[in-house]
Amino acid sequence: MKILITGGAGFIGSHLAQRLLDDGEDVIVLDNLSTGCQDNISRLEGRKGFECVVGSVRDQSLVYELVEQCDNTIHLAAAVGVKLVLDRPSHSIHTNVNGTENVLHAAAVQKKLVFIASSSEVYGKSAQPSFNETDDLILGSTSNLRWSYAIAKALDECLALAYNQENRVPVIVGRLFNTTGPRQTGRYGMVLPGFVTQALQDQPITVYGTGEQSRCFAHVYDIVESIVRLINKPEAVGQVFNIGNDEEISINDLAEFVRDATGSQSEIQKLAYGDVYAAGFEEMQRRKPSLSKLEKTIGYRPRTPLAKIVDDVIEEKRAALNLL
Ligand code: UDP
Repeated sequence: MKILITGGAGFIGSHLAQRLLDDGEDVIVLDNLSTGCQDNISRLEGRKGFECVVGSVRDQSLVYELVEQCDNTIHLAAAVGVKLVLDRPSHSIHTNVNGTENVLHAAAVQKKLVFIASSSEVYGKSAQPSFNETDDLILGSTSNLRWSYAIAKALDECLALAYNQENRVPVIVGRLFNTTGPRQTGRYGMVLPGFVTQALQDQPITVYGTGEQSRCFAHVYDIVESIVRLINKPEAVGQVFNIGNDEEISINDLAEFVRDATGSQSEIQKLAYGDVYAAGFEEMQRRKPSLSKLEKTIGYRPRTPLAKIVDDVIEEKRAALNLL
């Protein structure tokens, strides 16, 4: 099979490309190298069946051409990370809506399978202890552009499901919860690579807000495994799935965990949201997936323990900082 991965030079996309090549599939990566980077895919250059096209998912004719060349498409390309979305809101909305529209339209014409990467952000401010795929989405005001990412992703989901219903396009929607692991950069605000880099350099580990907010972190390898299994399950078509790990930790505990695991002397420094983000920033207190639908459908759920995930990130960042 030949698989198109949009955003394939990114953190998740490059791991997915590597895994699919290892499985013997052919892979075309489409990436504009904005947040993705050449380093992530340089290890794949020259491998049999691998091709990288530098371009944008907003380029409609390019997307058509590539979807046509492939058996199915995994659409990961997006403007991601709260920081980037708040710094460049209109660019993020355009990328996240038009890119998905282009991919779905091309797939509809050609009746090709598409996996659409959505996000746990769509659950918004809901205070439920864990989220089910059919739960209501509780989003904030449009005047707070923090919510524009969730709104764009929710629209992507609706569009995918509409194409499935009206045109029988085989779509699968995956709501990715906090995914982390080697190759993730802290540059766009992601917490674990940021904490590890701070700890390894004995700089303050910056906890935003009270630090009592919690998240569930999944190893990128487990996310890749889930996506690969989903695209091979006909029952998954037309469905939305949570994809993540349900081991929950507060950000305060994560900071201490990282400090202990690195043997760092860093202090843990609390920063008010107002010092980091634009005024009026709203935080999600908890974000835990219910994984029963995923497990029932693919016979698998992400389970790598946080300790192993943190170790893998430490090992990579130590090498990157020449601290080995
Ligand atoms: N966070 C933090 N310090 C940082 C970066 C992030 O305390 O240097 C917090 C952030 O406010 C959030 C959590 O860590 O509560 C996870 O942030 P991330 O951006 O990784 O993912 P999110 O769940 O917000 O999409």
